[in-house]
Order: sequence, then C-alpha cells, then structure tokens
Amino acid sequence: MTEHSVVIVGAGPTGLVLAGELALAGVHVVVVERRASQQVDGTRAGGLHARTLEMLDQRGIVDRFLAAGRTMQITGFVGIPMDVGDFPTRHNYGLALGQGEIERLLAEWVDELSMPILREREVTRIAQDDSGVDVALSDGHALRAAYLVGCDGGRSIVRKLAGIDFVGSDATVGWIIGEVAMESAPQIGMRPEGGGVGPIGHGGAAGPYRVVLQEPLVDDPGEPTLQDLRDALVAAYGTDYGVHSPTWISRFTDATRQASSYRAGRVLLAGDAAHVHPPQGGQGLNIGVQDAMNLGWKLARVVDGASPDSLLDTYHRERHRVGAQVLHTIMAQVALSTPDDSHAALRSVVGELLRMDEPRRRIAGMLSGLDVHYDLGDGHPLIGRRMPDLDLQTADGPTRVYALLHDARPVLLNLVEAVMPAGPVRVVDAQHDGVWELPVLGEVAAPSAVLVRPDGYVAWAGDHTDARLAEALAAWFGGP
Ligand SMILES: Cc1cc2nc3c(=O)[nH]c(=O)nc-3n(C[C@H](O)[C@H](O)[C@H](O)COP(=O)(O)OP(=O)(O)OC[C@H]3O[C@@H](n4cnc5c(N)ncnc54)[C@H](O)[C@@H]3O)c2cc1C
Repeated sequence: MTEHSVVIVGAGPTGLVLAGELALAGVHVVVVERRASQQVDGTRAGGLHARTLEMLDQRGIVDRFLAAGRTMQITGFVGIPMDVGDFPTRHNYGLALGQGEIERLLAEWVDELSMPILREREVTRIAQDDSGVDVALSDGHALRAAYLVGCDGGRSIVRKLAGIDFVGSDATVGWIIGEVAMESAPQIGMRPEGGGVGPIGHGGAAGPYRVVLQEPLVDDPGEPTLQDLRDALVAAYGTDYGVHSPTWISRFTDATRQASSYRAGRVLLAGDAAHVHPPQGGQGLNIGVQDAMNLGWKLARVVDGASPDSLLDTYHRERHRVGAQVLHTIMAQVALSTPDDSHAALRSVVGELLRMDEPRRRIAGMLSGLDVHYDLGDGHPLIGRRMPDLDLQTADGPTRVYALLHDARPVLLNLVEAVMPAGPVRVVDAQHDGVWELPVLGEVAAPSAVLVRPDGYVAWAGDHTDARLAEALAAWFGGP
C-alpha cells in the first residue's frame, strides 16, 4: 500500500487547482482520475469570471488563460448583461474560454509542479479511521492518505461513501444541449426564457454552434439524440436549421443540491462533488476553483502539522455559505426562465431593475465572485473580503499585492513606518499611495497593515494598536 499525505479523487478543474495549491506548499499528494486524458466531452463551462481570473493572477498563471481566450463581459442574469467593467479590479471582465482549454492549462501547471496524476483508475471504496483513509482503486491497488478530497464531480462516489447527505431539490425543468453544424444560418442569441443558439469559440456566425433549449422533463429520457435536438429546435424556432454533425449532445436539469457538510472527518468535498446546479450564470467551474483555493492552503498547513485539524472546519464554514448563496441565485434564475406570460412579465420587471446601477452592481458582484465576504469577525471592512491587487512601493522596488502571493504563503503587509514584529508569516513593508476601493462597497479607509491569507482573503486589517492582529495570527497561522 502506498502512503500519501493527501489523495485527490478527480482531475477536473477543482482537483487540478487543489493539486497545484498543495504542490506549491510541498505536500505529498496523488491525484486519481478515471479519464485517460484531460479531454473534455463538449465545451461544458464556457468561461471564467473576474474573481477566478484574480485567483489565477495570485499564482502568476493568469496570462496563459488570457492568451488562450477572449476577454469580454460574460456575466449575465437570465440573459440580462451584468457588466463588471466599472469594478475596481485589474480583471474587470470575464474570459470566454472552453472548459477543455481551461483544464488543459491547469493540467500543464500541475505538471510543471511535478504532481503525479494516476489516470485510467477509479476510486471504488474508501474507509477512514482515526489516523487516515484507505482507498481502493479499480486496478486492484490500494492507497492510504492522511486526508482524502473528493473532487469527483456531481455523482461523487466519495460523497456517497463518506455518508454525506446531498440536500436539495429534484429536477422540475430539463434542457437539451448540443454542439452542432447547421445548414442554414440560425437565429443567434439568448431566448427570453434562457438558452438559445450561439457560435462556439472564435467560430463566429459560420459556427459550429452550441444549442441549449428547454425540453419536456420525462422520467427516464435515455441518451439524447440528434432527433431530440431537432424536435427542440422546431418547438422553439419552427425550424431545425438543417442541424447535423453533432460533436456532443447532452442533457441537464435544474436539480439543485448541496452537500450538508463539506467535511466528514478526514474526507472533504470540493467543486461539483459538493454542489450541483444548472449552468445558468456560468458558476459551477468557477466556484469549484474557488473552493479549491480556499481548501488548499488550509489542508497543507494541517498535514504539515503547522495548524490544528480544526482549521479545516473553516473550509466548510466559509465555502458552504458561498455555495448556498450561488444555488439560491441560480434557482431564482431558473424560476424566472419559466416560459409563460406571467414569468415573461416578471423577467421584464426584474430586467428593468437590474439595468439600474445599484442592483446591477450588487448582482454582478455576486455572480463575478468579487463580493465574497467570509464572516471573520468585526473590524475593518476589508476583513473577510478579497485583498485588492494594489500597486505597492517596497525597498526592493515597485510590485503589486498579487505578485506577493505567487508562492501561496500568507503575507503581513506593513503600510506605515512602524515595523511589525516578525511572526509566523512573511512581513512586507510597503507603501500604497492610491485609494482603497472594494467592488460593491466602494471606497474604504486605508488600514495601517493587512494580514492576507494565501487565498487572497484578508484575515485582519487595522492599525498597529489592534489586539485582534495577534488573535488572527494565532487563529490562522498559529501552531497546533
Ligand atoms: C452544459 C454545461 C455547461 C456548463 N457551463 C458552465 C459555465 O459556463 N461556467 C461554469 O463555471 N461552469 C459551467 N458548467 C459546470 C462545470 O462544467 C462544472 O461545474 C465543473 O466541471 C466542475 O468541476 P469539478 O472538477 O468539480 O468536477 P468535474 O469536472 O465533474 O470533474 C470530476 C472528475 O472526477 C473524475 N472522477 C469521477 N469519479 C471518479 C472516481 N471514482 N475515481 C477517479 N476519478 C473520478 C471524473 O472523470 C472527472 O474528471 C457547465 C456544465 C455543463 C454540464
């Protein structure tokens, strides 16, 4: 039996980011993946939101993604554009980039960090005891790990074997999705009830096209066919546009579920394994990546013995709330998509409201992930929020905050002359001359110092007399 500090089940976007985070912290990890290669069926996720781009920037790899995709305003609420162009971030846009490309670039990063992925193997059984988790693989081999993380998608076997409830609602609406060619130019654009037809990638009006349309929900629909897609096109547009040559046809529903706990002892869940929902708003991959960024540094500290095991409880506390909020917003979008006259009227009223500045900023902040606020106690408004990527002057020259986070270590930014005593974190003396502005909240008072966690969230901010700095240092970065 091979022993590891952490076994990650699943090399989808969530598992890959978690693997990268643990590799940066020098943790001994193995990833087990059923797929033979990183190839993804269909495009699935079509892009990255602003906060995910910021997080990739925090690790110094965002340029690879920006070079592969197209920056644009991708955030929307039931087809109403939610522009983040005026938000105070270097990435005040989304990135149109298919999931296949996103996974390819993440896998490349993980490979550079020399993280092994055991491919063409499935985890079939797990059993945990006080000191670790036994893992059985489909090829007959066994692994043992101090902790195991299920990043194994919506049908997660890890979640089932760990006995974690998946709480939520069953499907009430179904959609068929296909990637196809068409003989005649289709009507491109969102339908009022959500879905529609759009060109894939840089293909433009010449296609290929992605079709997403509602269809009647039946108990056991079986594998979707080209004829099913034709029927849905005819029902929506009165023509099937001569649809042909599908490269991918699939179905999804509005079933919305969340793991009751993201942790059961030494087993943790992240990404779709912890939450499933329909793709309205393009959130799934993004919140999976953000789960992984939240968990990675905490798990690394716990397996290294640098922090107590209870640090992992903050992962559930912080991310379960964010997941619940995302599910809530998606359920509202699905309800608003109901194709009848009264919902059309409701959509139009909500649309009018969301075109106003304040409501738009609020919902756009949520959908882009920029307004995440973990409840880390009272004090300066920065506490629990993402650290802005400020330009800094240091004794070594100019830099910016996210550059200080590339190695996924915590940083205490000392912004006034009085030097903080060195503690368990790196202290950087720096100056920032500009304003401090947060998305949605607006301008905030400049703090004298800020304690930034490796995931880019502020553990503490204030002045040097604030006794809560010592508490925050002990709580987040103190010993076991
Ligand atoms: C049609 C569609 C459109 C979408 N659009 C968007 C969008 O625009 N934006 C967005 O953010 N999200 C979108 N999503 C959601 C996004 O695809 C998922 O949220 C994302 O893939 C979740 O990543 P994950 O790594 O958590 O899980 P997955 O991508 O499901 O990865 C899980 C991995 O685990 C492996 N695995 C499973 N079981 C085992 C096992 N027992 N042993 C070993 N390996 C195992 C699987 O092979 C897989 O590689 C969309 C999804 C769909 C279906």
